[in-house]
Amino acid sequence: MSESSTKPLNFIEKIIEDDLREGRVPNNEIVTRFPPEPNGYLHIGHIKSICLNFGLAQKYGGRCHLRLDDTNPAKEENEYIDAIKDDIRWLGFDWGEHEYYASDYYDQLYEIAVRLIKEGKAYVDSLSAEQMKEYRGTLTTPGKESPDRNRSIEENLRLFEEMRQGKHPEGSYTLRAKIDMASPNMNLRDPALYRIKYATHPRTGDKWCVYPMYDFTHPISDAIEGITHSICTLEFEDHRPAYDWATSIDGIEHTPHQYEFARLNISYCLMSKRKLLYLVNNKLVSGWDDPRMPTVSGVRRRGYSPESMRDFVARVGVAKVEGVVDYSLMEFCVREDLNKRAKRLMAVLDPLEVVIDNYPADQVEYFEMEDNPEDPASGRHKMSFTRRVYIEREDFMEVPVKGYHRLSIGGEVRLKGAYFITATSCEKDEEGNIIRVHATYDPLSRGGESPDGRKVKGTSHWVDASDALEVEVRQYDKLFKSPDPGAETGNYLDDLNPDSLVVIEKAYVEKEAASAKVGDYLQFVRNGYYCLDSRDSKPEHLVFNRTVTLKDSWARQKAKMGI
Ligand code: ATP
Ligand code: MG
Repeated sequence: MSESSTKPLNFIEKIIEDDLREGRVPNNEIVTRFPPEPNGYLHIGHIKSICLNFGLAQKYGGRCHLRLDDTNPAKEENEYIDAIKDDIRWLGFDWGEHEYYASDYYDQLYEIAVRLIKEGKAYVDSLSAEQMKEYRGTLTTPGKESPDRNRSIEENLRLFEEMRQGKHPEGSYTLRAKIDMASPNMNLRDPALYRIKYATHPRTGDKWCVYPMYDFTHPISDAIEGITHSICTLEFEDHRPAYDWATSIDGIEHTPHQYEFARLNISYCLMSKRKLLYLVNNKLVSGWDDPRMPTVSGVRRRGYSPESMRDFVARVGVAKVEGVVDYSLMEFCVREDLNKRAKRLMAVLDPLEVVIDNYPADQVEYFEMEDNPEDPASGRHKMSFTRRVYIEREDFMEVPVKGYHRLSIGGEVRLKGAYFITATSCEKDEEGNIIRVHATYDPLSRGGESPDGRKVKGTSHWVDASDALEVEVRQYDKLFKSPDPGAETGNYLDDLNPDSLVVIEKAYVEKEAASAKVGDYLQFVRNGYYCLDSRDSKPEHLVFNRTVTLKDSWARQKAKMGI
């Protein structure tokens, strides 16, 4: 609370504080809800809504419900429900006992619909979907009343009951609210309340073959649960009059209010479950939790921390104007957090063997390495050193070009935390590729310290060839190569980044990596942040995912912009 109370209030917090001050909140208890439709996994956009809804409840000492908005049985699955719950918990939020399902309210919604019919406020329409669209009019022309609008109450009751009993095919009838076909708001032109759908529902099974529509279900679910502030994204602004219509139906005691905020859009990312499902179904990614997916389960498997994601959406803030947030801001938040907590390990991704000829063949030494120089509380771990080490291939150049300060023949560098070495020669294969470097070390430079004040310009990371672990490393990059996927050709698939995954089958990591667990945050020194892959890594075959590179383009961009 202390951290948030120093920040200026966002517009929703202002509304809430006004409502509390004016005594407009029953029992002074703020009740929000996060209402995902279980038709896919949560994406990064949802994180904004989760942090907002759960965050407000926390800040004002209220509660936030998790409501699965399960009114479309054809597209919904239990797998999604489990994943949604898991993702919210991972983000650090808890709905306690307040887990609800829109389908819990089917009986009540049905009763309300029957009551509306009895009061002459709803009717069964036999117009087809196309006709209904035609009759609806446009933004500039009023709609036309359906010939069924004046059907008698008795007939409406009979037909609605028959719809429920499964006596009519899908699309043959719809229950509609009788509001106003000339309303300037299209959503008030007799919106559909119920449609016929023959589908087995994950929770209610085959009990129902009529299902309530969103604009009817959502406000009434909010009212039943005593939601005080129903927060949704801007595209629902036009639906607010329909929301208010539903919550003012006679007999509904509690009146929640809807507020809209701008959805989160991030460059290089798609935030639509439909499009993400397409990628999954067509095996363009390995699944919803593919580390390249902008899903909660994807970024989690990639090694992002929940703290960094919460920080990210907090920095983005809550506004009423849509915009696109730079992908690099998200990566900046990930780096900021991981820099503080990631354990440093040495890994060589493109190994080149270095033989230190003057180092005793049977000698082993151990060097103490800091787990995290950014964290004084972190410990140290040991790294062995023998005559043969691996360094990165790019850290050696036989004949150095100007400005190259790494290892070269006759040149001296520091092996980080170990010794100064000087390359003496290199071996090549028949094609002229360098396969091995020979070097000598200075025994007086133990620990990588200069023995006499002489300086070396380069420091290389390294691993001991005698006990380094051979591992697989997956170098992930952005899934799309364009900031606005599909903007140019109209098809987002054209912008898939062919280099979004580069697999290194054989990299070497220092032995300490064997103690890493799934969920640990690691930094491979000079290479980036990494984590163990939660799906494919096995003790006998470790697989590491690159979470994010070390390069900080956001910081550079900020510097350029002078902020
Ligand atoms: P999609 O278009 O990806 O299917 P949706 O809005 O249909 O998303 P829901 O499951 O209905 O997904 O969303 C649950 C909640 O999350 C809603 O309140 C919705 O407004 C919010 N939400 C969805 N996408 C975003 C986003 N990009 N930024 C912020 N909130 C979002
Ligand atoms: Mg939706």
